[in-house]
Amino acid sequence: MEIRGSQSPFDCLLLDLDDTLYSSTIGIGQACKKNIEEFLASKCGISSERASSLRAELFKSHGSSLAGLIARGYDLHPDEYHCYVHGRLPYELIKPDAELRELLLSIPQHKILFTNSDRQHARRTLQRLGIEEECFHSIICFETMNPHLFKDGRRANCSPPSSLAVETSEVILKPSAAAMEMAVRLAGFAPHRMVFVDDNERNIASGKAVGLRTALVGKLIKTNEADYLLDCITGLKEVVPEIWGQQKEGGGEHGIGVTMRSDLDSMRPTTPIGA
Ligand SMILES: [Mg+2]
Repeated sequence: MEIRGSQSPFDCLLLDLDDTLYSSTIGIGQACKKNIEEFLASKCGISSERASSLRAELFKSHGSSLAGLIARGYDLHPDEYHCYVHGRLPYELIKPDAELRELLLSIPQHKILFTNSDRQHARRTLQRLGIEEECFHSIICFETMNPHLFKDGRRANCSPPSSLAVETSEVILKPSAAAMEMAVRLAGFAPHRMVFVDDNERNIASGKAVGLRTALVGKLIKTNEADYLLDCITGLKEVVPEIWGQQKEGGGEHGIGVTMRSDLDSMRPTTPIGA
């Protein structure tokens, strides 16, 4: 699908939620880590001393602690995990952001919220930010990517690893290629006409591998796979004016040149993560 008549080279934006639509410094991420470590200790029998390093290991190897635990054979229900880890977050730290709301409403293209978090967390976070859910055409979240985990009345407890659980419970999340391909398929646009905005370098690399235009948020250094680098999401209009069919002031290297280079990039073969 392509939006005809648009001056913009883009038809759709895929926007991450956590640490992208709000700052990573407000304390939500820290509280989330603490909750995960408490979950590992109290529900999975991991010692408190080991919980912190295990959380980091699982995030690195599987993109989330939940995905890592299930891959290791822990039979736990996603709802129980999300209820414990996200349900107890200090949401009051997230403040209404009128500038962000105005920015999102000004984006004429299809907007899709693309988050590894569960739907309830996405809703609560958007509510705290003062952004209507309807601001997005759709939400791709944990439940969207993992309907198979909600089908068979899985037990809501965290029992020790079993060899059976590994095969039947694979978790699909960013940065896996399966998650990125699913997002592209659900969006229904050509990848090179979609901008993927995320704060995680591995997610950005994975997005680049499926042919998306990529914007890395909240980092000081642009990675090779990032087409754009933003201090924060509200800098989108300045850094990627092409979304609004505009060129950067001065054009050339910072304006039309960026678009043309991106289009050329899209013609190159891509390399899957880990290849
Ligand atoms: Mg994020």
